[in-house]
Amino acid sequence: MISRRGVLEILAAGSVLGASGPVFAQPAPGDRSVLVIGAGVAGLAAAQTLRRNGFDVVVLEASDRIGGRLWTDRDLGAPFEVGAGWIHGPEGNPMSVLAAAVGAHTFVTDDESLEVMYADGETVPDGTIVDAEEQLENIYERVDEEAGRGESLSAALDRLDSGFLDDAVRRWMTSAYTEFDNGAALDDLSGQFFDEDSVFPGDDVILTGGYDQVLAPLANGVDVRFGQRVRSVRLLEEEGVEVTTDQGAFRAMYVICTCPLGVLKQGQVTFDPPLPGSHARAMDRMGMGNVTKIALKFDAPFWPVDTQYLGLVTEPPGRWNYFLNYRTFTDQNMLVGLSVGAYPLVAEAMSDAEMVADAMLVLRDAYGDAVPDPIAFRTTRWSENPNSYGAYSYSRAGSSPDDWETLAEPVDGTLLFAGEHTCWDNKGTTHGALLSGRAAARWIIDDA
Ligand SMILES: Cc1cc2nc3c(=O)[nH]c(=O)nc-3n(C[C@H](O)[C@H](O)[C@H](O)COP(=O)(O)OP(=O)(O)OC[C@H]3O[C@@H](n4cnc5c(N)ncnc54)[C@H](O)[C@@H]3O)c2cc1C
Repeated sequence: MISRRGVLEILAAGSVLGASGPVFAQPAPGDRSVLVIGAGVAGLAAAQTLRRNGFDVVVLEASDRIGGRLWTDRDLGAPFEVGAGWIHGPEGNPMSVLAAAVGAHTFVTDDESLEVMYADGETVPDGTIVDAEEQLENIYERVDEEAGRGESLSAALDRLDSGFLDDAVRRWMTSAYTEFDNGAALDDLSGQFFDEDSVFPGDDVILTGGYDQVLAPLANGVDVRFGQRVRSVRLLEEEGVEVTTDQGAFRAMYVICTCPLGVLKQGQVTFDPPLPGSHARAMDRMGMGNVTKIALKFDAPFWPVDTQYLGLVTEPPGRWNYFLNYRTFTDQNMLVGLSVGAYPLVAEAMSDAEMVADAMLVLRDAYGDAVPDPIAFRTTRWSENPNSYGAYSYSRAGSSPDDWETLAEPVDGTLLFAGEHTCWDNKGTTHGALLSGRAAARWIIDDA
């Protein structure tokens, strides 16, 4: 008899079954074997929950590291968060529980500590910011009530106040706040649903030692196989599932697929039988957004060192319009700039040198030509990353919360999807990914 562990052993392509060869077993009733695709927060959370409940779990990960879109790079001397940067709403947030478990130091980023500058270097007066924020809040309330089905946010704004986006500061705000939050351009966002996520309370925090510290408790004891890019998921007629990677095939009773929405949309993984129409249509309607970050390290600061955020009113609007000042929580002279809205695809098509030059143009417009070149930098290109093809899911015009909920529904009692794109209330966040992974694991625990 083949052990439960055997169920999960690799079946090398073309190998012959035998005593000395790779073990292969047909999953049978009673097996508690699960394959998890992807070692990001969702996949690790699912695997850890299942492992603790006595299941045999193997995680198949395409890349050579855990974390997925939670990825800390320390090359510049301070932790640069390539993907997720903040625990949004830390109170009651399960990511805070993980951070506390590893003793991670958190720093509250102060949204009010903001200096916004016009392109010519003139500071936008605080009163103008406050007025624009109030106007934005008011019009978003109207959009919430009056946006039509399938209408984009930009179309709704234009219909309700045709001059609203002509004001440079308001346009900056819609980009630096809304396009960043959602990872998508106003033209693509759903007017009905763009701001419907629920949030945990509390001001956002960052982990000064690096966000990736939270991965340790999730990954502890979990069997992750790296370099295993999944190409197909086949639901077996008899029982269970066969998952094929570039390296071979694996079988188990259940599979949890946490491939990001961008990967699924690209058709990198094929499903046999094809996914139910409800799942496929939901994926089509949902949007996968983009955000580009650039980390710039300087010899000395040329910006106000105590100000948390530097806003720059740029053209086009999503171009390096918001910078996080690392001097507020590290001793490094670092700025992390963001491109959002339609601009990430422009920025990510540039070479590294071009991207740095582009960000420096914006900074020199605001702070003067004497601003020196950075001594080191780090760029990101999430839109091109084959492990995500984008930053995070967003409510595209024409989509609805039902689409995220549909994706979270099990297929044939064997295949489950998890990941931020299956958690409407907390989509685009690490805690959304965590909660979705745990929910998928719980479904299997109840079903087995
Ligand atoms: C620029 C940026 C900024 C962000 N900022 C924040 C923030 O401040 N706060 C916040 O809470 N969230 C933020 N997020 C979102 C957050 O990072 C994600 O929601 C969360 O990390 C997603 O976790 P996941 O497990 O769903 O997916 P992922 O982390 O993407 O995990 C999926 C895993 O699957 C693997 N994979 C992909 N394809 C295959 C395949 N075919 N076979 C095998 N493995 C595969 C990938 O390599 C990856 O490891 C940000 C994201 C980005 C990109």
